[in-house]
This record gives sequence, structure tokens and C-alpha cells, in this order.
Amino acid sequence: MRYASIPLNRNQHGWLSGQHYVTPHPTLSGDLTADWVVIGSGFAGVAFARRLAEINPQLNIVMIEADTAAESSSARNSGFVIGLPHNIGSSTAELKRANAYRTLLQEGVSQLEQLIKRHDIQCDWENAGKYHCQVEQGNEAILEEYASHLALMDEPYQILERDALYKKLGTHFYSKGIFTPNCVLVNPAQLISGLAHVLPENVRCFDNTPALGIRYGRQAEVITPYGTIKTAKVMLATNALSPEILPGINCQAAMATFASMTEPLSAGQMASLPAMQSWGLTPVNAIAGATFRFTADWRFLIRQHVIPALRGQVDEKQTHRVALRHQKFFKKVFPTLGEVKLARTWSGTIAVTRNGAPVWGQLNKFVYTAGGCNGAGVSKQTVAGSLLADRALNQDNGLIAAMESLGEANFLPPSPLLDLGIAGSLLKERFLGRKET
Ligand SMILES: Cc1cc2nc3c(=O)[nH]c(=O)nc-3n(C[C@H](O)[C@H](O)[C@H](O)COP(=O)(O)OP(=O)(O)OC[C@H]3O[C@@H](n4cnc5c(N)ncnc54)[C@H](O)[C@@H]3O)c2cc1C
Repeated sequence: MRYASIPLNRNQHGWLSGQHYVTPHPTLSGDLTADWVVIGSGFAGVAFARRLAEINPQLNIVMIEADTAAESSSARNSGFVIGLPHNIGSSTAELKRANAYRTLLQEGVSQLEQLIKRHDIQCDWENAGKYHCQVEQGNEAILEEYASHLALMDEPYQILERDALYKKLGTHFYSKGIFTPNCVLVNPAQLISGLAHVLPENVRCFDNTPALGIRYGRQAEVITPYGTIKTAKVMLATNALSPEILPGINCQAAMATFASMTEPLSAGQMASLPAMQSWGLTPVNAIAGATFRFTADWRFLIRQHVIPALRGQVDEKQTHRVALRHQKFFKKVFPTLGEVKLARTWSGTIAVTRNGAPVWGQLNKFVYTAGGCNGAGVSKQTVAGSLLADRALNQDNGLIAAMESLGEANFLPPSPLLDLGIAGSLLKERFLGRKET
């Protein structure tokens, strides 16, 4: 048996300080049986396990996690809980898909909001909206097209030029931006670790328990270093790393992207900026450009740079190189702030598909999955996980049709062709977006 590689980010993320860490779930010890095994406790895994358990409280559900929810990519992200697709399009088919996608995202946002209220999860949930910004001057086409698509979808938005943006963001770096109110900002690590600790009683959770592979017979057997779990069904909530456990998944590639968090600004540095509320900004080119946030406790988050990470591994040297890149970029955006140190730089994995469609549904007699997040997963993987549970237990839910309307991910060739393809498209995007950094 070829053992699955698990995500290994040789860095620490900046979202949790010591006192916020929740105690990990126990590690598996010995063999078990279950009706369902959920592998992975990111947004897809916890949403799936919760919904399954709610539909049938008699089910014996086991959720295993290679690390902890507080260390997953779900914890390592930038904390934009989007209620609106990044890419819309203008043809009838594109608009129909974008409308279905928006309905799904808003359902994900609403599920999360209800849960944080019900369980009092402290995660700095803020209805802050989002700025979608462009650096390059003179190329109006990208944002104009985005604005026209928002109008077609009847979405409220506001266009801001450089000086108006400065008053909101404290920088003259961006030439133009579009503000849309439909986005929540959170501390993602507090959100996902909170959710993973308030699951219904018939979900037993084991942390630091990697799935090494699945053996198939009359039942499935999930192999871990500490015991084997015999089960009727498996949910692969491992997103980018799913092909490690089920090598037949040949339509998504694992990539890594990086974020840094600065130390909080001093009172003097704050005084040099316009009076600002916390904000979140996405770039017009997600590969070359930077996602930015300013938090309520006066820190900046920068998410920028994407690399292939086919087996989910990112080492210290890669992290260090990106830290230097982020530091340089930050100085360019806020040249007058003086020294602002990066407290942490970290990475996380995402799954990318060729046509942007998710990898969602039943993969074989035993295994289901909700993957192929394409870089956005807080609201999306939440709704994808909960709808998959409905589908697996034959529950009638109108949103399943919306999920299916997003289409199926296209075939991707194996390595080394895949590596060449990824390198080529990253180069292309970095070239197209070269003026955005
Ligand atoms: C830096 C960064 C910024 C991002 N910003 C945003 C953002 O602002 N908004 C947004 O919506 N999305 C964002 N994303 C994307 C988002 O984080 C992902 O889409 C989301 O985490 C996917 O959720 P998931 O549950 O499908 O998978 P994951 O969060 O990847 O969870 C999968 C889990 O499976 C576990 N696992 C893997 N292999 C095994 C195994 N063999 N055995 C047991 N467990 C295993 C992993 O440890 C992990 O905990 C960002 C991602 C990164 C990296």
C-alpha cells in the first residue's frame, strides 16, 4: 500500500495566540467500527459530520484529522466568508451558474452565522464587505467588466477611485476598487476550531490521527498508524490531499498559497493613517496580486504567492522566501509607516481544478467527497459538506440541484505533464498580473 502524504506546513499561522488554542481531541488508540468515517476536519468535514449526525442521530460517526482543525487550511486562510462569487461572467449560462453559486455561498454564510450564535463561538465575525482592487492604472476593462456583471446580478456595489480608497484603506497604492457589502470577515482559526468542538454527540473526533489509506472489502477499512476503522462509508474531506488517499481522483491539483500577519501598528503609526475601520481587499489577479486585510486589533494580513505543492508539503526555505517577498510588498503599499514587522508567515494547501468546478459527490461504492475548493472554501466548503450529507442520506434539498449545476471538474493529466501544466499557467498569470504587485 502506498501511504498517503499529509499536509505539512513547516510554519505557524498567525491567527491564534496561546490562550485561544482549544485542547485537541484525543488521538485514536486501537481499532474501531463506524457507520461513517469523515477524514479531515476543515469546513467541509465538520459541516458534513454535523449534518449527517443531525439527519440521523443514531449513526455512529467518526471524524479523524491528521493534525487539528486549528492547524488545517481552514484555519490558515485569510478569513473572507464570501457570499458572492469572485468570477461571474455575462453569458446566460454563466449568469445562471453564478446565481446558483451565490445562493449556495449565502446558504454557507447563513449556516455559519447560525452556528456561531448558537454555540457562542468567538471568531470576530464582522459584516465588513470587501474591496476588489486594481493597481494598474489605465486598464479599466477588468473592473468595468466586474461592475457590469454585478449589475446583471442586481448586487449592490460602489466604485472608488484612488483618493476615495485612501480614506478607507490608508494607502494610495490602488488606482481603483469596487466595494461589495456581501462579505463577512472572521478569524478563521477560531471559527473552525470552535466548530470542530461543538459537533453533535454521535460524532467522535480524533486529532493527530492521519488516514494512511483505505482498504476495500465487504466494508471499507480506514488505516491509521494507531488502529483501523471498519466502516460502511467514508467521506474524504481532505480537499487538496484527497488524491493521496484515493489516487483515482484525477481532476484536482494541490497548490499552496502563503499569508503573513504583521505585528499590531503602534498608536503613532495609526495616527499617521486616516481613521480606518477594519477592511478586507481582494486583488483583480488572485495569483499575482495580494489579498489584504486590516484587522480590528490594527494588524495587516497579506495573502500572496501560489506554488505547486502536489503532496501538500511546504518547507522553511519556501516560507522564508515568501516572508521576504511579503515584507517588500508591504513596504510598497504602506511606504510611510516605517518599520512594521511580520509576526508570522505561513502556508496552506488549496485544491485547484482546471475549469473551476468542484469535485463533489460519490466516488465509488464507499467513498464520497467535497473537494476542489479553488481557493475559496469557508462558505463554499461549508455548504458543499452539508449538502453532500443530504445527498448521501437521500434527503430532499433543492440546493443539491444548485450544487450539481456548478458542473464537474475536468480531467487533469498525471505528473510530470501536470507539473508542466501548472508551471505554465502560474507563469502566465504572474505575467498578466505583473503590474498588480
Ligand atoms: C493562505 C490561504 C488563504 C485563503 N483565504 C481564503 C479566504 O479568505 N476565504 C475562503 O473562503 N477561502 C480561503 N482559502 C481557501 C480555504 O482555506 C480552503 O478552501 C478551505 O480550507 C477548504 O476547506 P476543506 O475543509 O475542504 O479543506 P481543508 O481546510 O484543507 O481541510 C482538510 C483537512 O484534512 C486533513 N487531512 C488531509 N489529509 C489527511 C489524512 N490523510 N488524514 C487525516 N486528515 C487529513 C487536513 O489536515 C485538513 O485539516 C485560503 C487558503 C489559504 C491557504
